[in-house]
Amino acid sequence: MTSGTAYVGRFAPSPTGPLHFGSLVAAVASYADARAVGGRWLLRIEDVDAPRCTKAAETAIVRQLSAYGFEADQAIVRQSARGDHYEAALEELKGAGRLFACNCSRKMLALAPRNAVSEVIYPGRCRDLRLTDAEPATALRLCVHDDANAQVIFNDRTLGELSQNVAIEVGDFILRRADGLYAYQLAVVVDDAAQGVTTVVRGEDLLMNTPRQIYLQRCLSYATPGYLHVPLVRNDASEKLSKQTRAQPIAEDSVIATLDAAWAFLHQPALGNFTSVAQFWKRAAELWNPALMRSTGAASRGNLE
Ligand code: GLU
Repeated sequence: MTSGTAYVGRFAPSPTGPLHFGSLVAAVASYADARAVGGRWLLRIEDVDAPRCTKAAETAIVRQLSAYGFEADQAIVRQSARGDHYEAALEELKGAGRLFACNCSRKMLALAPRNAVSEVIYPGRCRDLRLTDAEPATALRLCVHDDANAQVIFNDRTLGELSQNVAIEVGDFILRRADGLYAYQLAVVVDDAAQGVTTVVRGEDLLMNTPRQIYLQRCLSYATPGYLHVPLVRNDASEKLSKQTRAQPIAEDSVIATLDAAWAFLHQPALGNFTSVAQFWKRAAELWNPALMRSTGAASRGNLE
């Protein structure tokens, strides 16, 4: 492995509930990937979607991570405290003529074409209307021009080279929602850049978001980090583990067995006997090999080629 002094990784849970086994798997991968190269690892609480987030969930997540031996190298950053930074990025884009106000309702977009993961491809209705964003129920969208920047090609460290034309497959996307909340795409891009994140390790369910995040990085002249998307854990009904599918929180009384199970899920080499969490992480950092992971398959790839 190369010297990892410059590596900065992160785990960025949304505090909508305690961590379940699927979120633990993503956390283990991000932590092992950082520690394997002596890199730094940050914890960011993505509570930008305030109505869906709770303090109780954040407290549970922080306690669970600590029980599982994760040690962040910096104080926790909370998106709920970073509105000024998101606003500044919006101002910059506005100044560059890249934003427009949009009052399309869901109903109006119901018949718009959809991409491979059933997202509306924005048909451009409000692009030239010059609405003002001071009106209620007005979202702000990023103008995605169909030019060379919109053709995003990136290299996922395990999935290989993937590409998407953001103008064709996504269209102008929302950066501030009609309810006034900053969109995940904006917050994650601004924060990864502000925190100097060099490598994003996260679940494959987010893979389809990566091209539009890279596109936004280009619009804001940010560096693009490296990406590694981790296979998704599914339940017996083949659903992704989540609050909606009633995934159970990870137990805090069987930490070693659960870490071992997460490691096995990632198809990592056997660690031998270990009796403490510290030993687990020491060996995990030595043996981590993301090339052994098995992709969740086509389902989460959407139309990425
Ligand atoms: N907050 C997102 C989630 O919990 C993760 C965002 C990311 O890793 O980019 O699904």
